Amino acid sequence: MKQPEFIVDGMGGNIAKKLRIMGFDTEFWLDASDDFLINKSTHEHRLLITRDKGLFSRISKSSKNGLLLSDDDETKNLVFILESCNIKHINHVPNLDTRCTVCNGILRKLNKTMLSNPIPERVYKNITKFYQCSKCLKVYWEGTHIENVNKLIDNINRLLRSKVD
Ligand SMILES: [Zn+2]
Repeated sequence: MKQPEFIVDGMGGNIAKKLRIMGFDTEFWLDASDDFLINKSTHEHRLLITRDKGLFSRISKSSKNGLLLSDDDETKNLVFILESCNIKHINHVPNLDTRCTVCNGILRKLNKTMLSNPIPERVYKNITKFYQCSKCLKVYWEGTHIENVNKLIDNINRLLRSKVD
């Protein structure tokens, strides 16, 4: 099954980052006009995620390809988005589809001897798996941040399962 693709408006920066790291192609625009977002969503078949009721009602009238976030809780919002796309499970990260949280680029594995950006020495000594964004070249490694995201994913998977039962 083809993975859904998203476009997130300026109010959803954290949601966009989480969707990218989970492996979803996600466009994020901080200051885009409603017309721009609707156009891009329509032409690229991206589900438009917004907290803006006006924008949501416009996209609902044209393509129906919108999702209105009404909760303040990030976990609940993510569960709502994934459920709407009929997704029952998210793989731990980094997974094969994980994208750069900054630019949505695809990550590739990196041998640590090939690291060119300076990284903290303790990280270099203790971490074996590194990834680099193929677009903006940001380097990622499996540290506390990744562990926290995977805890969030466990929680999300539990909630997704409980809705099915
Ligand atoms: Zn990047």
